[in-house]
Amino acid sequence: MFPGAGKERFVTSGAFFFAQVRDSHTFTCVNVTLSKPGLALAATGGLALAALAAPAATADTALSAQARSLAAPDCAKVECVALTFDDGPGEHTDEVLDALADHDAAATFYLLGSKVGNLPDTVARMADEGHEIGNHSWEHDDLATLSGDEVEDDLRRTDEAIEDVTGEKPATMRPPYGSLDDTVRGAVDRPIVLWDVDTLDWQSRDSGAVTDVTLEETARGSVVLFHDIHESTVDAVPDILDGLAEDGYHFVTVSDLAGDGMEAGATFTDAR
Ligand SMILES: [Zn+2]
Repeated sequence: MFPGAGKERFVTSGAFFFAQVRDSHTFTCVNVTLSKPGLALAATGGLALAALAAPAATADTALSAQARSLAAPDCAKVECVALTFDDGPGEHTDEVLDALADHDAAATFYLLGSKVGNLPDTVARMADEGHEIGNHSWEHDDLATLSGDEVEDDLRRTDEAIEDVTGEKPATMRPPYGSLDDTVRGAVDRPIVLWDVDTLDWQSRDSGAVTDVTLEETARGSVVLFHDIHESTVDAVPDILDGLAEDGYHFVTVSDLAGDGMEAGATFTDAR
């Protein structure tokens, strides 16, 4: 098992299983379809691999090979960062997903429950392409103004909207505005994820400024805050990925970055 890899990436069910492949710097997942249980071989990008479950059977070859990035390198050995995108899904979110796919990069999206039903295909794509989805509340209320029960209801409603699309409850949450008090902490049943690099993209609305801040302030273990509802941010993402990759960074989800370093009801800002 690779370090930091989420169990959902190793699902074995029915006629599907995931074979693990490693290329030069990322792990890749290959979804192999078998007409009967047995052996399958799959290879991508030169390095090969073969995994297999059930006993004797003929290989029906790797058919629908839909490679997905696992992007779960060992962050103890390489320099990892977690890029996070809040307040979506929005009309530009698919462009972020395109750029991430071009770079074999994983990211984390903190979604508003009220928006999920508008763009279910985009949300499904996030999950399918190996990104993490977090809970960012129903409609961006300041949770510190609510009662504990209201906070729980808000998060539950948002979980349900996301689960309806992805089948999974978000493992982490991020409070709108980073606003927290003891009531909120007491009502949250999962890690509370903040950030150490604030790109202030909502304020500048300037792609060049967003890129500069990100490249200047990001360090190994950083959690970087963006908002994919702004076109200026989305336009900056390709340059940001290029720049950080040139600096040697690997792009992982928040949960992969944190490893065992998060706990329910406690804040996690970075792994620096
Ligand atoms: Zn927000």
